[in-house]
Amino acid sequence: MFSNKDIAQFADLETPFYYYDLSLLQRSLSACANAAKVYDFHVHYAMKANFNDTVLKKIKEAGLGADCVSGNEVKKAIEIGFAQKQVVFAGVGKSDKEINEALDLDIFCFNVESVQELEVINELAGKKNKIAKVAIRINPNVDAHTHHNITTGLDENKFGVNSWDLPDCAEMLKASANLEFMGVHFHIGSQITNLDVYKNLCVRINEFAKWFEERGFMVKVLNVGGGLGIDYQNPEQQIPDFEAYFKIFNDFLEKRPNQEVHFELGRAIVGQCSSLISRVLYVKNGKNKNFIILDAGMTELMRPALYQAYHQIENLSKQDGEATVKYDVVGPICESTDCFGKEVLLQETSRGDLIAIRSTGAYGEVMSSHYNLREKVSTAFSQE
Ligand SMILES: *Cc1c(COP(=O)(O)O)cnc(C)c1O
Repeated sequence: MFSNKDIAQFADLETPFYYYDLSLLQRSLSACANAAKVYDFHVHYAMKANFNDTVLKKIKEAGLGADCVSGNEVKKAIEIGFAQKQVVFAGVGKSDKEINEALDLDIFCFNVESVQELEVINELAGKKNKIAKVAIRINPNVDAHTHHNITTGLDENKFGVNSWDLPDCAEMLKASANLEFMGVHFHIGSQITNLDVYKNLCVRINEFAKWFEERGFMVKVLNVGGGLGIDYQNPEQQIPDFEAYFKIFNDFLEKRPNQEVHFELGRAIVGQCSSLISRVLYVKNGKNKNFIILDAGMTELMRPALYQAYHQIENLSKQDGEATVKYDVVGPICESTDCFGKEVLLQETSRGDLIAIRSTGAYGEVMSSHYNLREKVSTAFSQE
């Protein structure tokens, strides 16, 4: 819900822009940190969800680590001030340049996704006379029951080492003088709302940890990844149930004494703290359809075009209770997939109305592009 003060502030700003509610971000961070602390769990924030400087600084101040998926994210995390020992680096295609830079920055751990990558990291670390800390990202073949395009932990996905390659992995680890084995890593998908999925994941993690232990490896870290979903249908449901989430891992992981449990949450932390604010350029009444044409498009928010994502849409210039009409809410980009919602019920809308597209804090601003030579999307922040 936006206050009249918020809406008055929006009226003076050039649209479109991402509006960040920093007090909500702070409350989400506190809820997450407090719930994790109960079990002494460590949370790394998955930077790819949102790497806005202001957002990152708040997350760093809350004491979270950083989970990176590119060399530039690793560099950015260090620049923002995340401690080197709290930075992890995952990704199915790390380049030699990225690996070298991360070695120079002495990060906590590489989450390694293939036997060949182990070989390359060992060689590059050797040239620098360094020992690279590595965890093996295993593809556990657990169905995340989420959208097909954001599932990552099935045999058909490109991510992680498949179970049948683990013997080769173990051999490579034993033969590599410049690698230190830290543990096992998993990440099975995003926007997971069925928490039973995580019970299944825990069962698999226990099996894989045991597999390594039986071969003489010490598993110091169980990194269970992220993926906890948010309620896109109800943006007012602002903070995910972190307590229930962490409790599952406490209940179902067979954690050894001195073993650390690491999490990599992105969406759950930042998803609800931002909305994309846009203005209506035109209202076009067709024969069977009415269109609202916004000044924001898929260049500002790509999720609907990329994976048919749902975002709640609200007209901030009209009052509750006014007569409603069904509209297809679209952007100005020359693509038919440039559509934020079909048959959206909104108060009768006019040119110039302010429209809020909710729950855009995760995978929103970070995916914006210059397609059609669009301007870089701007941002605005709450006064806290
Ligand atoms: C994207 C990603 C995450 C975070 O996913 P969310 O759904 O935003 O929590 C965590 N770990 C890895 C390796 C990722 O690629």
